[in-house]
Amino acid sequence: MSRFICRMANTVPGGSRLTSWFDGHRERCLRCQADAARLRGVSRDLGGLEGEMLSAPGGLHTQVMATLPPQDASNPRRPLLMRVIARWATGIGVAVATLAAVVGRRARRRV
Ligand SMILES: [Zn+2]
Repeated sequence: MSRFICRMANTVPGGSRLTSWFDGHRERCLRCQADAARLRGVSRDLGGLEGEMLSAPGGLHTQVMATLPPQDASNPRRPLLMRVIARWATGIGVAVATLAAVVGRRARRRV
């Protein structure tokens, strides 16, 4: 139950009626004080990293590309219908040409 109260004390937003009660809890509770100190330390460490620029380790690009599954070279930002058409364009072209040839042959026989 105490952990639940501690968790609530650290998540209740300020300005609520319970804020003063949780403030009192945080002032007396060693666990909450330790959590607050740890958060201040992490915040201070993260603040120290501001402006740091790290370079990627050598070979990372090759390693990442080797772990990716095969791609179909279609742009994922294009609409789905356009991607399907681009992927099957050759097959669709052959089917349309075959259909046109069949229709043209039948039309010539009737004439
Ligand atoms: Zn507490």
